[in-house]
Amino acid sequence: MVDNTISVRQLAHEMGEKSGSIIKVLMGLDLMATINDQLDFETAQLVSQEFEYDCVNVGFQEDAHMIELSTETEDENAIPRPAVVTIMGHVDHGKTTLLDTIRKANVASGEAGGITQHIGAYQVSHKGQPITFIDTPGHSAFTEMRARGAQATDIVILVVAADDGIMPQTIESINHTKAAGCPIVVALNKCDKPGVNPDDIKQRLMEHGLVPEEYGGEVQMLPVSGLTGMGVDELLEAVNLQAELMELRANPERHAEGVVLEARLEKGRGAVATILVQHGTLKPKQPIVLGTISGRVRAMTDHKGKKLKSAGPSTPVEIIGLEGVPRAGDLFTVVKTDKAAKSLAEHRADAERAAELGVSKRLTLQELFRRREEGELKKLNLIVRGDVQGSLEALKSSIQNVAVDGTDINILQAAVGAISESDITLAATYDAIVVGFNVRPDPKARRAAENKQVEVRHYRVIYELLDDLKNALVGMLEPVFEERVKGHAQVRDTFSIPKIGTVAGCYVVDGTIGRNHSGRLVRDGLVIWEGKLSSLKRFKDDAKEVNTGYECGLGLENYNDIKIGDELETYVMEEVARQH
Ligand code: GDP
Repeated sequence: MVDNTISVRQLAHEMGEKSGSIIKVLMGLDLMATINDQLDFETAQLVSQEFEYDCVNVGFQEDAHMIELSTETEDENAIPRPAVVTIMGHVDHGKTTLLDTIRKANVASGEAGGITQHIGAYQVSHKGQPITFIDTPGHSAFTEMRARGAQATDIVILVVAADDGIMPQTIESINHTKAAGCPIVVALNKCDKPGVNPDDIKQRLMEHGLVPEEYGGEVQMLPVSGLTGMGVDELLEAVNLQAELMELRANPERHAEGVVLEARLEKGRGAVATILVQHGTLKPKQPIVLGTISGRVRAMTDHKGKKLKSAGPSTPVEIIGLEGVPRAGDLFTVVKTDKAAKSLAEHRADAERAAELGVSKRLTLQELFRRREEGELKKLNLIVRGDVQGSLEALKSSIQNVAVDGTDINILQAAVGAISESDITLAATYDAIVVGFNVRPDPKARRAAENKQVEVRHYRVIYELLDDLKNALVGMLEPVFEERVKGHAQVRDTFSIPKIGTVAGCYVVDGTIGRNHSGRLVRDGLVIWEGKLSSLKRFKDDAKEVNTGYECGLGLENYNDIKIGDELETYVMEEVARQH
């Protein structure tokens, strides 16, 4: 009996054969295995047949608990469904105002006295055509959802304030949306302001690959004002047009499936989740499993607080009756029985714990060649952060020129500034490597990179990266030394000491700071100095090492312009084993 996988030793034991005989059979199949290696069910079956045994898989089969799915990708019972829209853009460009205006003007004031409740999503109607809006604007939330396998959004409205133009988060929004392959409709906002020039912004957007329709492109760009409501009708019309082009369809006649948009614990009501039905129709009393959480829909309400008896495709609803709080981005499905819901949820929670304990190594440059050789990798995704715009441009074109047969290098995002948590989310979602030029990750990004096992590489000059890329692609990347970060300290005070220079009073935030470590000084995410420490003291005494939670005084070789708030990162170069 095989529980999804079985070790060679266990298989031998169950058949009363010697492990060696099994390894021999495996060698005949061109598989080199040791007695501790795990075999999947198919392999175990092949081997057992050689010994005239039959193999039974007793492992947990998710499908067995599911309501049967139609196998055709094209469901012939599918009918048109409303588009699901997310609003993105730079902070203060008017996302919230625009969402509010759309909601107030277009949500029919209904039974609950016209008061809309915040449930994370709502539906409006434009010329009789419903459109669903997800209420949590922002590209980070969007990619966070994708990272969990959810594809909630059909169309992104990119808000660009006409009086401010293209800003860093505008570019990030474009990059995140493009990576997901989602079409964009641009709202040139704040056009009520005198003297703004939306045409100028259209020109600038072209530099980021968004070509307006009037220049032969495919992107609709409309002047609007979220404040006065000017152009909002036209914007919704544009969304409808885009939706029509996409021929969005779903079958309402099957069991419901979809995605969790928001969830929280509420006093008196227990776990409350806003979910978006994507296929089928959801009804009260149905057993449901949302990621690792099971439940039974006790009540279902829309954004007006109205109780619903059914919710079809593209409908956002708030549900209660769950055993726990699911996570945004979790997929949900209705199942036949409460028991099936419980088993599925429990099994998934177990599998998740096991996966957390096991290694799930993401792509690194070291791994690149192997995956390419094995035909697994056709495209290398990169996220690039630099300290100045000029060098980024040069870098983008040089990277595109590092062509090696059969591999495409795809830059998902190139932007100026410190490596952020949202870069790491993007990288984890699309299996990308993050490279930084004279910039470092902020502390949140550093933690996220560790948790999600995203490779972040740092360079000072372009050709070092290009060399590494070329070498990795042809399988010659042999880093003899690798950088190991040892600690971080925060500069809390500075003293100018005659003949010695500036000494920084620091607090060690994590790791250790060692007298013989190399270091780099980081200000607002940018590396402003790199070199050796010239001194390290605890109170008046020289120190070899200072640990987390302690204060120290230190000097940097040939550098005096240390400022309060700077961060010192220390590292050592360690020899690492060759990989090939
Ligand atoms: P968000 O950060 O993108 O959600 O932006 P908000 O919706 O909070 O808007 C930021 C500021 O811009 C607020 O002071 C709004 O009143 C203002 N604002 C938003 N839309 C418009 C608009 O169409 N015209 C003008 N003049 N101001 C606007």
